Amino acid sequence: MAKTLPKTDVVIVGVGWGGGIIASELTKAGMNVVGLERGKERKTEDYFMVHDELRYSQRYELMQDLSKETVTFRSNEKMRALPMRAYGSFLIGDGIGGAGVHWNGQTFRFLPYDFQIRSKTIERYGKAKIPDGMTIQDWGITYDEMEPYYDKFEKMAGISGETNPLAGKRSSDYPNPPMKKSPPMQMFEEAAKKLNLHPYMQPSANLSQNYTNPDGIARAACQYCGYCERFGCEYGAKADPVVTVIPVALKTGKLEIRTHSHVRRIMHSGGKATGVMYTDVTTGEEIVQPADIVVVTSYVFNNIRLLLMSKLGKAYNPATGTGVVGKNYAYQVLKGNALGFYDDKKFNLFAGAGALGMNLDDYNGDNFDHSDLKFIHGASISIGQTGFRPISNNQVPSGTKAWGQEFKANSIKYANSWISVGGQGSSMPFQHHYIDLDPEYKDAYGDPLPRMTFDFEDQDRELAVFMANKCEEIQKEMGASRIDKLKSLGPYEITTYQSTHNTGGVIMGADPATSAVNNYLQMWDAENVFVVGASAFPHNSGYNPTDTVGALAYRASEGILKYAKKGGSLV
Ligand SMILES: Cc1cc2nc3c(=O)[nH]c(=O)nc-3n(C[C@H](O)[C@H](O)[C@H](O)COP(=O)(O)OP(=O)(O)OC[C@H]3O[C@@H](n4cnc5c(N)ncnc54)[C@H](O)[C@@H]3O)c2cc1C
Ligand code: SF4
Repeated sequence: MAKTLPKTDVVIVGVGWGGGIIASELTKAGMNVVGLERGKERKTEDYFMVHDELRYSQRYELMQDLSKETVTFRSNEKMRALPMRAYGSFLIGDGIGGAGVHWNGQTFRFLPYDFQIRSKTIERYGKAKIPDGMTIQDWGITYDEMEPYYDKFEKMAGISGETNPLAGKRSSDYPNPPMKKSPPMQMFEEAAKKLNLHPYMQPSANLSQNYTNPDGIARAACQYCGYCERFGCEYGAKADPVVTVIPVALKTGKLEIRTHSHVRRIMHSGGKATGVMYTDVTTGEEIVQPADIVVVTSYVFNNIRLLLMSKLGKAYNPATGTGVVGKNYAYQVLKGNALGFYDDKKFNLFAGAGALGMNLDDYNGDNFDHSDLKFIHGASISIGQTGFRPISNNQVPSGTKAWGQEFKANSIKYANSWISVGGQGSSMPFQHHYIDLDPEYKDAYGDPLPRMTFDFEDQDRELAVFMANKCEEIQKEMGASRIDKLKSLGPYEITTYQSTHNTGGVIMGADPATSAVNNYLQMWDAENVFVVGASAFPHNSGYNPTDTVGALAYRASEGILKYAKKGGSLV
């Protein structure tokens, strides 16, 4: 029999960026919040002098323990899904701060086109442009409505950047100037301008200078240490929930965080949640935390899984395309790139930062004419200098043997003489791409694992090759001695890292028949449940997701405060 605790105003499931922002906004407004986090406590001091590539980057110290909980995967419905037993395609965060602790910090806004993708695509190209089975839909919110929330996230995180000439309008400049422009980036900029493209410095949550945010949180400038992606920052220079929003919430005295608390069900009756049930993973005890409002911020996979296990919302049926929970899972197309080898140049590639780079959006969204192309949307093309660490970075030109003298000679020759120019491709949803509960495999607590059914489509294959060709043009203009580019995109495979930008499954929209949450991320089917995160994206854009996750979390906080006063549906 589970132990039942006293009721709280709000319970949050998972304390990453989504959970941290909600906790900070609600506690500042005087609400009592309990944050339940399945992982452990994390703090900046954990990373002092620990530049350990093996521990963090190769053995995934900060990620979810896959022996306890994972995802099963299959390419299509005819196959039996198998559990992902080792990390590859994406890395799932765990512990206070979630994946926000070990992210890179590349902080882009989505384009105005993204939020109205279906209507804008039809308006410009006609309905026939959307292939059978592609389930794009408008988000039920416009870029202009999102803008104030983007602005709030960027000021809180202290984003360093410069205006992107091809993006939506900004109400104010980034709070900090851009990061330093390294020599490869200067070459990229010069080449892109010669090709009449529009390069700009990547918006970065690694601080370009010391900064104090509107909540009074002061952080130090980035040291370009290069141990950023997959690592925590020992200086607090990378914005993460632990050094920004969580201390603000704790200072109010209104937030109680319980670590090692693995939430397994949302309890509900009569169309409203009554609280959550979780297991204390240190004792195995089952505990019920009653609450007036439940906020689910446990990343895409567990947001979907918790709703399905709790029988909240209508489960998606891929055969009919009806139902909503699990629908429109999307990912990204990261392989449309070109690698340049420079025989006569040496760059200091070991130095860098998670969000040090330059981008251009001439081939992103609907910034270019798709009339004669067999895909919609596009990719942000970038050059990045994230800090190339010795174990994971050893590029040699194609054709080099994978062992022996030639391999050694080329490894040494090109160690600091290669540059990747790559496209971060958008991902459109399809009727048969979804997440449901695996009928066979269970986690350590006996609950079904989330099952992913996903593969690349013609849309993705066309997009990847188009982007690789554009990247090659830029490399040529930059003067690469030799270029290796993607020639064709194979099937999606879960074993090599691409991006932790999984989206969809609890999507937002204007219509309860086709979306699970409204534009405050409030569930249509349970008005006191808010589901926050990239699970709300109806498709995935050609950018990293977290600026949009953060902006939506600020909007959801506003909605929760309104709901706490008045109740009822917010739209
Ligand atoms: C290596 C890497 C690099 C990245 N770089 C970028 C980047 O440059 N730019 C960008 O925009 N994005 C980037 N991302 C993605 C970014 O980290 C995520 O978008 C962001 O962290 C999502 O925040 P979230 O709060 O939704 O989820 P998370 O950060 O995953 O937080 C969810 C939390 O919920 C907890 N949780 C899950 N299930 C339960 C449960 N049942 N009970 C209790 N707690 C639970 C988890 O332990 C976790 O702490 C990167 C991700 C990775 C892994
Ligand atoms: S590169 Fe900068 S932001 Fe990233 S971990 Fe190092 S000091 Fe921190």
